Amino acid sequence: MIDPKRRMKTAIFIIWLLVVPAGFAWLVVNRPVLSPDWPEFIAITVLAMAAVYFPVIRNGIPLLLAGWLTIPMFFGHGVLAEAAIMQAALLAAIPLNRSAPDPVHRFFFNSLMFFLLSIASAGAFRLAGGEIGTTGLFTLILPAVAYTAVHAAGNTVLLHVYQYLSGIRLPLWSQVNRQDALTALAVFPLALAHYYLYEQIGHWSLPLLAVPFFAVTLLVRLYDASERVNTMLMKTVSLGHELSGKLTQPEVLDLFAERVSALLPVDYLYIFDVRNGRVEPLKVKEEGRFVDIRLQKDVPEEGIGGMIYRSEKGRMFGSQSEWSVYANDYYPEEAESLIGVHIVRNKKVEGILGVMSKRKNAYEEYQLRILELLGSYLAVALDKARHVQQTVKESERCGLTGLYNYRYMEKAIRQHVEQVNSGELGRMSLLMLDIDHFKHVNDSYGHQAGNEILVEFAGLIGRAADPVWTVARYGGEEFVMLMPDLPKDEAFNYAEELRRAVGSHPFCIRGEDGEDIRIPVTVSIGISAAPDDGEDPMSIVRNADRALYTGAKQEGRNKVAVYTG
Ligand code: GH3
Ligand code: MG
Ligand code: MG
Repeated sequence: MIDPKRRMKTAIFIIWLLVVPAGFAWLVVNRPVLSPDWPEFIAITVLAMAAVYFPVIRNGIPLLLAGWLTIPMFFGHGVLAEAAIMQAALLAAIPLNRSAPDPVHRFFFNSLMFFLLSIASAGAFRLAGGEIGTTGLFTLILPAVAYTAVHAAGNTVLLHVYQYLSGIRLPLWSQVNRQDALTALAVFPLALAHYYLYEQIGHWSLPLLAVPFFAVTLLVRLYDASERVNTMLMKTVSLGHELSGKLTQPEVLDLFAERVSALLPVDYLYIFDVRNGRVEPLKVKEEGRFVDIRLQKDVPEEGIGGMIYRSEKGRMFGSQSEWSVYANDYYPEEAESLIGVHIVRNKKVEGILGVMSKRKNAYEEYQLRILELLGSYLAVALDKARHVQQTVKESERCGLTGLYNYRYMEKAIRQHVEQVNSGELGRMSLLMLDIDHFKHVNDSYGHQAGNEILVEFAGLIGRAADPVWTVARYGGEEFVMLMPDLPKDEAFNYAEELRRAVGSHPFCIRGEDGEDIRIPVTVSIGISAAPDDGEDPMSIVRNADRALYTGAKQEGRNKVAVYTG
């Protein structure tokens, strides 16, 4: 299938080829330049190119204000002079757009559009009774209004049609249109003023208007740039606040990656963790999509990552040729612009954060600083999330065996029984395990040896359990296993197998002389199940306990007993 964007570009180029050169030829023959003034043309062309190359920028959008230079050319010399100077001015936008995608296509599009606008507004001027070279205010004003109105309206319509055909659905009246309308409003009186001033004082009119024009351009650009930095700083600070509210590492990384991609032009994003001399990707976005890369390697001595890791501070590059010398390992082929910064915590580099864009010169210096700031926010947020996760883990686990503790198990039993009661879960079996004559182990070999046996026992039953089961140390030498979805008879078969496995497992402790002492260990197990043996969580536990004591312990131990009511 042909890429619709490509088809659009080809179509624009073909229409340009058919319309613009032939159109100019027609103008040369039928609408020759009236009373040509070559020094004036050259001066106006140079200034119009300067106005396009160094445009007023509002909200990051460049405004085309060259009309105050080109429109008087139309009033004085006709459509050919105006159209030719405008086309020359548009050429100056090619280097300006070097960071935008496809500047050559944009030139052909703009050239075609402004050529059509030149012709259409000249037609409107004529229809309104205008005459080239007229100087009377009242004979000029109405046709001049018609000219400007058609130019401004035509501009809006052509842009909308183009965007519609390119598949971009913009609101009918957007910020761009508002700025275009304001532009027309500013340009029109300035063009008239320029035209009449030229009539009065000749070539001196140019510097008189050009100096304040470019001075104001500079002021607006400076203001706009500082406003953009301000907006970005505010967004950065609010991201910092939001990050500190996220308590898990994936939440922190998701929010961070999403916001950074919205804040900067990002086609590729890499967040690497650097810890104990190892690098690990935490979050990777390529071609605008998140990808899962599982790789761990030593801190790179070379490559782009290594270069950034070893630099004193963040680095920024405008094109691939500037950083490709470092890229001896993997890198995205289409990437051009690159910013890489450290993720610093307590003056230690804990990670690398990199963003890349397919566009050249996509980033500005202040964006590098902002990314550095974001890197430190990220470090703090990740650190906090790790702390919280560690604390949660510790509060749920038994310090000796690493299994879940009583508190967690209670909560888990409650949740499972509720799910069974609500029908969300079909059934659940529960095993209560108690090591036989464990007091004897303590009495004979000491408490420390008892602990070692407990750890060994916990490891054994933990490994034997299905990953979806919950295994907990319920107290002393008692353990519980929660088996969602497992019927009681299957739980019994499993418990029997586990009992035998415990009985034949070689539990060993180290004796005083360093020799291994094998200790016989057996376990008694009681089984209950929901919903068969009760509706409330505690009765399920109690019934498993009953089965354990009456059915297994009292029957001689090393047995499995099922609660029968
Ligand atoms: P039974 O077969 O009836 O279960 O006999 P038992 O000796 O295992 O039962 P009892 O309840 O009389 O004793 C449990 C013993 O477990 C008592 C205590 O010394 C020991 N114990 C409980 N918690 C720990 C622990 O954390 N470490 C060690 N080393 N021993 C523990
Ligand atoms: Mg016991
Ligand atoms: Mg006990």
